[in-house]
Amino acid sequence: MERKLAGAHLTINLGALKKNYGLLRDKAAPAECAASVKANAYGLGIERVGPALYAAGCRRFFVALPGEGITLRELLPDAKIHILAGLLPDTEETYLEHRLDPVLNSLHDIRQWAAFAKNRGPLHALLHLDTGMTRLGLLESEIRELAATPELLDHLEIDFVMSHLSCGDVPSDPMNREQLERLQFFRSILPQKLQDTPVSFANSAGIFLGPDYHFDMVRPGIALFGGNPQADAPNPMQEVVQLRGRILQVQDVDSEFPVGYGATFRTEGSSRIATVSVGYADGYFRVLGNKAECAIKSIKVPVVGRVSMDIITIDVSKIPEEGCMPGAFVDLIGGAVPLDEVAAHAETIPYEILTSLGSRYYREYL
Ligand code: PLP
Repeated sequence: MERKLAGAHLTINLGALKKNYGLLRDKAAPAECAASVKANAYGLGIERVGPALYAAGCRRFFVALPGEGITLRELLPDAKIHILAGLLPDTEETYLEHRLDPVLNSLHDIRQWAAFAKNRGPLHALLHLDTGMTRLGLLESEIRELAATPELLDHLEIDFVMSHLSCGDVPSDPMNREQLERLQFFRSILPQKLQDTPVSFANSAGIFLGPDYHFDMVRPGIALFGGNPQADAPNPMQEVVQLRGRILQVQDVDSEFPVGYGATFRTEGSSRIATVSVGYADGYFRVLGNKAECAIKSIKVPVVGRVSMDIITIDVSKIPEEGCMPGAFVDLIGGAVPLDEVAAHAETIPYEILTSLGSRYYREYL
């Protein structure tokens, strides 16, 4: 949306994104650093994020669905693109045409890709082992079945064996070691042909668990976009996302004035209430009403009353009048209001905040 016509401005700092990629790559070295850019690069826009990461040196990308892979292929003709969902029915030709490598999540996936590969020479893929998510990937019984029928792999080239951590953001969680040990065990019972296949295990959080978790390739997502990879630790990543709304109106009211739908907030003493042009239709979650804070020139102010579809109300009593005139910018995410703090107030994770960001913003890439 055009700058002056938009109620809120979303700024995505591609320079910071590239620095984050460099930081993660250095931390995981000598492992290769891929990037997880599913869901339109976590809502930030694959058209800009994909090429920026490529420019920073990333050559391998993970997306969830083949449709996302096709979009990325048009942007990055030379990159490796892996589809985490595995094979959807009747998609084999599409994968081949766009050079998308599926992550094979089950024996069913393996059979489907192998049958298609039969007359086409070896086709590439990743093999996913489920070490503790019970979500996607082969469990022990399937790995044993594969080991007993290794000819299933005859027409396939498995570039990486991979698995996914469930609790990596909490370093002290015993699940991390448990999954690591299960991964080692699962590797030991794989068919001979896959015994020395490179391994990918770590997401953003896994990179910070230490070298035991890095193996040959890491696949961070959220940390690239500035989310803190570890709970309860200072965020080492650079801020990528800034969301700023604009003040529409300011009202000076007496004590006990009701604010917003449901009159869930009443002023305590004379107050100045500013209305800001962002709402739940823009991904500013309704649960943030009476909970979150915004900032004007780094001074924090509370969101009071419920979040409406296009509007929030904030108490700006402590801001000098000239700082909160109509048109003034209010920081909603970024700066004094870190993404992780907004997510905590919304009782969710930064991933959901980013992937929910709406389409009515003026989007600016730095
Ligand atoms: N690998 C897999 C299989 C994933 O599903 C995801 C995202 O959820 C990632 C890597 C990236 O994870 P994160 O964003 O936590 O770094």
